[in-house]
Amino acid sequence: MRAALLREYGEPLELTSVPEPQPPPDGAVVSVEACGLCRSDWHAWKGHGEWNDDRVPRGQILGHEPAGEVVAVGDGVDRVGVGDRVVVPFSLGDGSCLRCRSGHGNVCADGLALGFEPDAPGAFAERVAVPAADHNLVELPPSLEAREAAVLGCRYMTAYHALADRAALAGGDWLAVHGCGGVGLSAVQLGDALGARVVAVDPDEGARERARSLGASAVVDPTERDPVAAVHELTGGADVSVDALGIAETCRSSVRSLRERGTHVQVGLTTDAEQGEVSLPTDWMTRWEISFLGSRGMPPTRYGALFDLLAASDVDPGALVARELALEEVSARLAAMDDYETEGVEVLTSF
Ligand SMILES: [Zn+2]
Ligand SMILES: [Zn+2]
Repeated sequence: MRAALLREYGEPLELTSVPEPQPPPDGAVVSVEACGLCRSDWHAWKGHGEWNDDRVPRGQILGHEPAGEVVAVGDGVDRVGVGDRVVVPFSLGDGSCLRCRSGHGNVCADGLALGFEPDAPGAFAERVAVPAADHNLVELPPSLEAREAAVLGCRYMTAYHALADRAALAGGDWLAVHGCGGVGLSAVQLGDALGARVVAVDPDEGARERARSLGASAVVDPTERDPVAAVHELTGGADVSVDALGIAETCRSSVRSLRERGTHVQVGLTTDAEQGEVSLPTDWMTRWEISFLGSRGMPPTRYGALFDLLAASDVDPGALVARELALEEVSARLAAMDDYETEGVEVLTSF
């Protein structure tokens, strides 16, 4: 089958033919109909993560946001069957440990990150193998197309988990979103759907416009005004604030945007400049009882709640899709992320 491999950091991916994946005994093979492209792919492609011993190795098939149809299952699989339409969460649990069994499979110690490690080749390919299929695969409601579902597999569910599960965002809360790429825009749309009032911060005019159309009631250009002062002026201090980018500036701005007892959620991963560490105003955070939370992906058991919200609130994740791509275009679109030139969510739909 055709697949796109990381051969050299920062160089175009190699489009090549690789052996067909086989389902592990507890796993499945999914025919990929759509796979989102995201900043995490860019981090992997750039070779980031060396400081954390977390660099994606050369030879990896990238791609971690697939949706499609199950075409094969192992002997030990019983809940999932051939022909099921599924979305695959990138944070794969082993399905058997205490974390997985208590609904926290996204932080499974023996889990795999789809598309980021050799034991979990990704979905910039015609087909992808998924371990512990009964635990990890999420069946799609008939109303969701694969291209919409591909948006859900990473950024959307990450934003949902961060807001609804981690920060307990409530109706009427003010939510500040710093950085309006894919996960930031997902947070804007979902924050609005959860009944919060949303202020979106991004230097790019197109991103701010998109945030407005997805439900932000106010937008801030941080190159024009101090984003912290602007958010406080608009909201009196946000109840919940998200750093959806992961650079020192957006992380600190997000924390500083909060009102007393507010909650910051860190979703963006850092770049070479921060190498995983950002200094924070800890005295100020102590004085005002600020909470600082990390959030990663979403356990597969929480998809039902997300689907219910989508059904109850006419929210359209497909509205985030800015562009559909063929496999040949992926390298050029990764390169475009160097200068933050991409907008909304780009989805690979032609293999
Ligand atoms: Zn992603
Ligand atoms: Zn586990």
